[in-house]
Amino acid sequence: MQEELVSRSDGALAHVEGLRHGVLRFQRCTSCARAQTLARYACSGCGKSTLVWEDSNAQGNVVATTTVTRAPSEAFAALAPYVLVIVELDEGARVMGHGAKGLRIGDRVAATYFAHGERTLLRFVALEG
Ligand SMILES: [Zn+2]
Repeated sequence: MQEELVSRSDGALAHVEGLRHGVLRFQRCTSCARAQTLARYACSGCGKSTLVWEDSNAQGNVVATTTVTRAPSEAFAALAPYVLVIVELDEGARVMGHGAKGLRIGDRVAATYFAHGERTLLRFVALEG
């Protein structure tokens, strides 16, 4: 049995690369099937390092929202004020991204992608109906 499915350098790279190609990825534990929040090295459920990346359908529900009026860095100052949301994906993982203004907790959203400098960032927008 292969224990080290994810090397440390793999980390968030798969996530960042996914965004660049318009794919939202998350990690799932192959031991207990728990979906993970953020890029982890070990499962938040069972502690094993049997994490693999899966593609999300990029839809979910808003579970938290905040408006950032003072950007944490110069690179983000041009965007401020902006909305950050935490979205629980349909697969169970939670991700943070930018959100359209007016999003509220419980809203159904879909991920879109936008370029900011050299990075590709997430922006969640409300789904119709
Ligand atoms: Zn697990």
